[in-house]
Amino acid sequence: MIADPAEQTSSEVPLAELSAVSRDYLKAIWSAGEWSTAKVTTSSLAEQLDVAPSTVSTNLRRLAERGLVIHQPYGGVRLTGSGTSAALAIIRRQRLFETFLVQEMGYGWHEVHDDATALASAASDRLIDYLDDRLGYPTRDPHGDPIPDPDGAVAPMTLISLSTCTTGDRGVITRIDDSDPAMLEYFDRVDLTLDQLVTVGATRPFAGTMSVSTEDGPTDIVLGDVAARSIWITRCDRT
Ligand SMILES: [Zn+2]
Repeated sequence: MIADPAEQTSSEVPLAELSAVSRDYLKAIWSAGEWSTAKVTTSSLAEQLDVAPSTVSTNLRRLAERGLVIHQPYGGVRLTGSGTSAALAIIRRQRLFETFLVQEMGYGWHEVHDDATALASAASDRLIDYLDDRLGYPTRDPHGDPIPDPDGAVAPMTLISLSTCTTGDRGVITRIDDSDPAMLEYFDRVDLTLDQLVTVGATRPFAGTMSVSTEDGPTDIVLGDVAARSIWITRCDRT
């Protein structure tokens, strides 16, 4: 999510000064714009954070007073420059801890979210730097989401949603939406994981399903539209 250049000059807010609720909102607003161009609104945030729209309005007003977000009734919610910096620092922490839990602690990729959030909010900057070094400076988390660097830079990724593919399209699974643990668990069960080359077989738009086959693993996995929308691929040439 890009803030107006004029807003980039606003001063940075130390993460330690932000409440857990503020962090959740900044993370949610930034994430909402990461893989979608849809406008972020009070109601979309209420749904995402599972709270009442009136609660969202109150919290957005507080964040706006601190210069972290701009909320225009018909223009949606945007992060300011300092809101973006804070959000990227929060996202970096979250994704480093997700990586740590999977890589070092043996968590499943569907189990990491809550513990990573708790650890990310408790960790000092020093621990985050140490963790980054210990993990070998990872650029992606276990779901393929980019990990912002210490300066908040995010490596650009050009991905397409599997749901937009047709029969014969091929691509490498590069990111899987991590918002639904049950879906991640399902992908585990059918052996779909990151960095697999998949080819789209039959598509059945009337039923909202498609079949995909992997290069060396399972074939003819039937995915519904919601599942296909969760998988993002780096496109390869058609077969
Ligand atoms: Zn993740």
